[in-house]
Amino acid sequence: MQLQQALALVRDIPDFPQSGILFKDITPLLANPQAFALVTSELAGDTQQYSQVVGIEARGFILGAAIASHSSRGFVPFRKAGKLPHTTISKSYGLEYGVDVIEAHIDAVQPSDSVLIVDDVLATGGTLLAAIELIYELGASISEVVVLYEISFLKGRERILEKYPEITIRSIVAG
Ligand code: AMP
Repeated sequence: MQLQQALALVRDIPDFPQSGILFKDITPLLANPQAFALVTSELAGDTQQYSQVVGIEARGFILGAAIASHSSRGFVPFRKAGKLPHTTISKSYGLEYGVDVIEAHIDAVQPSDSVLIVDDVLATGGTLLAAIELIYELGASISEVVVLYEISFLKGRERILEKYPEITIRSIVAG
């Protein structure tokens, strides 16, 4: 299977979870073992200069855990509010459809860590900005931000780079 064939399995669902949103449904890609493996390897990258993989709830968990296992790194979940059991730090952010909060355990990453941040979709960039800020607050550095799909017209990349020009953002497909 070629990467393009794997990516073609991402399905567009109009008006989900609300009117006007074209939802990128990655479940058909995840269900195909060759496609999932190819995309995991692509997201992990060639150089893998990171010590930990941070995945953002919920689809960032699926991709991030697969990448961490593929590259023999640890996996760190950044979760929605109230889900993590230990002491947390939190950030609120605006979504393409609503407002949310993500949290990280206070000891989730160390200052010596270089982190790969993973999510399925980059839309307005609010979610990834919040994750970036949590990682910086924890004192770690960021190796790269990687997403499967970038919704270019929402300009999330520009929003992130305006605030953090040093960050590398890699998307497997932009549309
Ligand atoms: P944003 O913070 O606006 O960049 O939104 C990114 C987050 O919301 C990611 O965690 C995505 O899973 C989710 N998301 C936003 N827009 C979409 C979309 N059109 N299709 C699928 N997921 C989306």
